[in-house]
Amino acid sequence: MTVALVSEDERIRARLGLGGTAPGGGAVGSDVDGPRVRVVSVDSAEFSGASAHEPLFVTDAAGAGLDRLRDLVGLTRRITPSRAEFAMHAAYGAALRSAALRGGVGAALVDGSGDVVALGAVEVPRWGGQYWDGDEDDARDVVFGVDAASRARTVTVERLLELLAGMGTTLPAPPERLVGGLLEAFDSSQGSYGVGHGGAPAQSFESLGRVVHAEMAALVCAARSGVPVAGLTMFVTAQPCRQCLRHLVCAGLARVVHLGPAQEAAPWFHADSVTVREDEAGRMPLTPFTGVGPGAYELLFGRQMRHTFTTPGET
Ligand SMILES: [Zn+2]
Repeated sequence: MTVALVSEDERIRARLGLGGTAPGGGAVGSDVDGPRVRVVSVDSAEFSGASAHEPLFVTDAAGAGLDRLRDLVGLTRRITPSRAEFAMHAAYGAALRSAALRGGVGAALVDGSGDVVALGAVEVPRWGGQYWDGDEDDARDVVFGVDAASRARTVTVERLLELLAGMGTTLPAPPERLVGGLLEAFDSSQGSYGVGHGGAPAQSFESLGRVVHAEMAALVCAARSGVPVAGLTMFVTAQPCRQCLRHLVCAGLARVVHLGPAQEAAPWFHADSVTVREDEAGRMPLTPFTGVGPGAYELLFGRQMRHTFTTPGET
């Protein structure tokens, strides 16, 4: 079985020589049958729409890790996951246990040795933790089919439209028929974002929901177990929202690594304590993950594990 590497990024295509064949027989190109791994750069727009489930390899503007990727796919030498890849995969594993109605997110807290010391997933809390599938008294959002934060947002906007109508404004349709399309347009507009730089936040109603976000769940998991969190690194399968980010700053984490495109600048509201660079003293780096994404982890490393490598000196 070969694995194809594909990319829409010219820089990556040139660097990997896409269309040719990688050393060791691992096909590199877009014309083979079989699994594909998409190679994306943290600074490219195409990365914005990518999901954690996709088989991705993430590089940066300098092409970090691309030579290793060639060896990994080409089976030219035995390669095992990096600390970051291991940690992000663990975070992804946590995300899979979430039934949150707006999608699963996972987080892993990692110490200097690369050991995962706490995990978290976005899910409704129950006393002393969060609900699990199969719990007898399951009261997750998925059971009721309602996400309280989304509902609060809808109700609020609908009420504002009603008030506008009450003030004499002529609306193109009744408020209850306008609200869905209005929110959809808002979420897809340029002013809407997760972490963001000053536009209108899509998540303003998060505090009215029931779920504990993955980042917070990981911090609470550590607290329940008596694990100090200052100096740990967090890996999270999405860019942290505003609420989580402020708590991660406060917790004294050494660094937060997120799946998804690089932020262009430190979120303006925490410019005093968060940096998107690696080397600003007194600020917590918030940096994009690079390497084998969790959706390609088993494919690439499992293939490595099943392959028999001939060690030097053997015949
Ligand atoms: Zn959050």
